Amino acid sequence: MPVVAIRKFLSNLSIQNKFLVINLAVTTTALSFAVIMAVFGEYLTKRDFIMESLNVQAKMVASNTTAALVFKDEKGAEDILQAFISSPQVHIAAIYDAQGGVLASYIRQGIKNNISDLHMSENDHDDIETEIHQHKDDSLLSNKIHINQEISFEGDIIGNLFIEADISGMYSNIINYLIYTTIVALIGLSLASLLLLKLRKSITAPLQNLSGLMDTVIQKNDYSVRVEHTTDDEIGILSRGFNEMLSHIQVNDEKLAHELSERYRAEEHLDKLAYYDVITDLPNRHFFHEHLERTVEHAITTKQVMALLFLDLDNFKIVNDTLGHKTGDMLLKQASSRLSNVLRKNDYICRIGGDEFAIIVENINHVDDISIVSEKCIDALSNPFVFEGNNFFIGVSIGISICPEDATVSNDLLVNADMAMYEAKLRGKNNYQYFNKKMNDEHSRKFQLESDLRHAIDKGQLELYYQPQVDSHDETLCGIEALMRWHHPEKGMISPGEFIPIAEETGLIPSLGQWLINTACEDCNRLVKAGITDVSIAINISGIQIRDNAFIDTVRNALDTFKTQAGLLEFELTESILMDDSSLVIDKVNKLRAMGILVAIDDFGTGFSSMSYLKSFPINKLKIDRSFISGLPQSSEDTSITRAIIAMAHGMNIGVVAEGVEHADQIDFLCEHDCDVFQGYYYAKPMPLAELLKLYEQRRRADGHFHLARVNI
Ligand code: C2E
Ligand code: CA
Ligand code: CA
Repeated sequence: MPVVAIRKFLSNLSIQNKFLVINLAVTTTALSFAVIMAVFGEYLTKRDFIMESLNVQAKMVASNTTAALVFKDEKGAEDILQAFISSPQVHIAAIYDAQGGVLASYIRQGIKNNISDLHMSENDHDDIETEIHQHKDDSLLSNKIHINQEISFEGDIIGNLFIEADISGMYSNIINYLIYTTIVALIGLSLASLLLLKLRKSITAPLQNLSGLMDTVIQKNDYSVRVEHTTDDEIGILSRGFNEMLSHIQVNDEKLAHELSERYRAEEHLDKLAYYDVITDLPNRHFFHEHLERTVEHAITTKQVMALLFLDLDNFKIVNDTLGHKTGDMLLKQASSRLSNVLRKNDYICRIGGDEFAIIVENINHVDDISIVSEKCIDALSNPFVFEGNNFFIGVSIGISICPEDATVSNDLLVNADMAMYEAKLRGKNNYQYFNKKMNDEHSRKFQLESDLRHAIDKGQLELYYQPQVDSHDETLCGIEALMRWHHPEKGMISPGEFIPIAEETGLIPSLGQWLINTACEDCNRLVKAGITDVSIAINISGIQIRDNAFIDTVRNALDTFKTQAGLLEFELTESILMDDSSLVIDKVNKLRAMGILVAIDDFGTGFSSMSYLKSFPINKLKIDRSFISGLPQSSEDTSITRAIIAMAHGMNIGVVAEGVEHADQIDFLCEHDCDVFQGYYYAKPMPLAELLKLYEQRRRADGHFHLARVNI
């Protein structure tokens, strides 16, 4: 238990004090032991000396008492014993004869003693021996010393001298000696302590230095510090080890710091990639969603009005496709910086898709504020963008959705703004539209149609209607245009103007196109079978359809399968498809022409036409868009455009079809200007093939030709 207590006590001490305490304890123990041994040695020496001198004295007295004993001279014997007066330690002395009788005795004055104690039985000499023997066994620490000296005469033992001495007087000497040695020891201890106090520094100072350094390292995380003066002892080894450890840590720390900063930079970069758009440096779609969510929540809780503007650049695709992606990227960059410049500091603009941007406008006091922002955006993009010396005009269609009026959830707000933007596109682009509930119904209808369209082919809901085209010279049937119809089981007949864009968006157009080409080929064979051998079938080809890798194979397979004469097929491509002068489209048009298929340009005059592209394509026909025909003959603009188109086409040996002919005065104007073919409700609306064949049969029977009577509509 004390050992445990000492250990505990020591463990709480500083190393300096521990060192001092242990050393003092050891020194004290050693000195105490030395003092005890010295005192004990002194005691033994002194005791031996007394014994020795008593023995000598006893021997001398014994030899002097021989005569007194022989002659039993008690007086003489007692006189001899008086010699012990000079030996103060001898308290009692007695001379016994051979029979154990006391001849003479001496008792120091002042010592009480019963002399009879010394009297031994005269007859029992052995008892004397025993007595003597007993006295010989005086313990080492006893106060009394007993000496029994035999007295002999001529070889015979004639008696004994017994002496009892008291050595207690010696103890005061011993105590003095003890005091002296203790003082000496204490002085030694003090000197040792002083020395220790002086020397302990040489041991503890390096340790303190080491622990101080460690504190600096821990507190300041500074691994560049080192222990300076190292010695060759264990502390020196420890210090050098410490230094080495520090330099290892320093190297690793620097490596770690470097790695961490690299990782931080990489994370920052990834973060930027994850949240920012690399082209425009604007926050991206990911960031936008998070920010929109927060803004909507904030607007709801603070009862403020906010708006989301969904922007889609108009005609961006044309620049991107004609001048390449690099220019497209530059355009996006310039457009985004123009937009950013007209916005207020608090308005948030993000790029959320290819040519789509979103602007979050917070804290709106009046709806007019949103119109102002929208107009500023439209204005900002109204000046042309100049690339490779050419001016490019791009506009922007903006859809606006307001929180909380239109939606209170970020995703709904986005969907609504998207719908409003779509409406802006439908309304001729480069304008802004506010969301209204009607758009939502249209959107759900579109969504529904999207899923129904996937099964329309399998369920046989699609049909081709055919609209006759008549020769302007004799009004005989010269061609028919295949126009797709969708008989929706619930919604009735759905116009291709509605479902073709959906098919394009959802990637259904290739399978729809395949069905179209196959059906047209099949119907073409039926026409031939019915005796209509010189009438071509015009098929509308969508831009996405022609870009499909399998397109040419689909056409080839259809021609092979139905053994259809390629010359009876005419593919109608819009201007914008041909404007995309990518080698891919040119290559495909050339392949179609090489197969013998005719190619017509549909809706001519509506695209961003530079007439030059006409030269690069082997075109057979131009179809003047209905929007020009409808203005005939009153609109001077439409008449001059129509005239110019006919003249130009004829100049290039290309036939001209007038679309959407509805009135006789349109026919008259077109005949006057030598238009080749008419197509429109004036002659006939699109109809099922069976109906067309029936009509043909009726007319053929009448005059052998398929003349189409003009109908008033
Ligand atoms: P489009 O190629 O310009 O076809 C002519 C459109 O004008 C047809 O509308 C036709 O019914 C309509 N039309 C013809 N004559 C007159 C007229 O005198 N007055 C008026 N107001 N309209 C007339 P439809 O059938 O609704 O087709 C609309 C568009 O859908 C087509 O325009 C074409 O771009 C596309 N389309 C139709 N069928 C197909 C198809 O099978 N494939 C592809 N890719 N597009 C198709
Ligand atoms: Ca057409
Ligand atoms: Ca057309």
